Amino acid sequence: MSYQTTMKPVYATVFILILLVATSAAVAVNIDERLHRRDDGRWKRGIEYLNECSAAAHVQSVRYESYAARAREDGRPATARLFSALAQSERVHERICAHASGLFNGEYEPPTVMVKVKTPTSANIEKSLSYERRRLDVSAGMAAKRAIEAGNRYVARLMIWLDGSNRRHLELLERARDGILAEEGYEVCPNCGNMYERRNCDVYCPFCLTNSTEFTVFGNRDD
Ligand SMILES: [Zn+2]
Repeated sequence: MSYQTTMKPVYATVFILILLVATSAAVAVNIDERLHRRDDGRWKRGIEYLNECSAAAHVQSVRYESYAARAREDGRPATARLFSALAQSERVHERICAHASGLFNGEYEPPTVMVKVKTPTSANIEKSLSYERRRLDVSAGMAAKRAIEAGNRYVARLMIWLDGSNRRHLELLERARDGILAEEGYEVCPNCGNMYERRNCDVYCPFCLTNSTEFTVFGNRDD
């Protein structure tokens, strides 16, 4: 009896130890596989797409800030607010792509860019429309398609998200060209860059479900 009562806990301890070693080995193999996956071509290409996306968003954010300054000079404050909101949306896109690149051990350096605006606000709206249309024509679905072909569905999902946000840029610029401006201002989701006219703001961002109380406001009042 005494033999059985002293040996049972020993068996149990040995069993638990074996289980722990086996579990640790399985976790180690899993981590190693995940790290290895990050080193293969699809992650490398994914990092390239993300860094390209960050750099393009950075350049465009600087451009939109310059257009906003020119709109203020031209006495068009509502258009200035739209351009400032567009610049903020681009900065959010830059941050999202740079962060995702970093998760895959990519390194992103913002490009140095100098923008000198010589054209009046109406021309800057047209230039912005051309840029947004070209970007959607070239990249709408294409960046996501490239990422899927490279086997990186994570990057593909991110690109689809950004395409949706860029489509809002185009819609709001088309309205501005037609003289429809949100006099009360615009709001930008800080987590995905989605934009709103203040009077048509959703309670939650439909893309990422961020509460509208967290949106960045570009308006002529603080409420
Ligand atoms: Zn959002």
